[in-house]
Parts: sequence; C-alpha cells; structure tokens
Amino acid sequence: MAQDQETKIVTSRTISCDGGGGALGHPRTFYTIGESGEVICGYCGQRFKLDPNAPADTGH
Ligand SMILES: [Zn+2]
Repeated sequence: MAQDQETKIVTSRTISCDGGGGALGHPRTFYTIGESGEVICGYCGQRFKLDPNAPADTGH
C-alpha cells in the first residue's frame, strides 16, 4: 500500500479512527498514543500525532 495519508494532529492521547466512513471506512478502533508521540491505525494507515503543545493528560 502506498497511500499518501495526511498526519492528523490530535490533542488527546486517546483517539479513535473509523477510516472516515464510506468505502474506506472500518470498524471504529481506539488507540492510545504512547511515548513515541504518535500512533498509526492498523486498518487504514492513518497516522495520528500528538500535539506537543497539548496539555498533559490528567486522566480526569
Ligand atoms: Zn483507521
């Protein structure tokens, strides 16, 4: 697969991806961004990157 996926900047360590719906969609899957600061969806290859300016997750 040589998809030219755009990196999504997120402000929360917990994200979900459903592929954007439509033909490219997939079951909604949740990911937690770890120490690497980014996570890649195993279904659609979408890359999520944690905004370095995001407030620390206080786990409220
Ligand atoms: Zn996905």
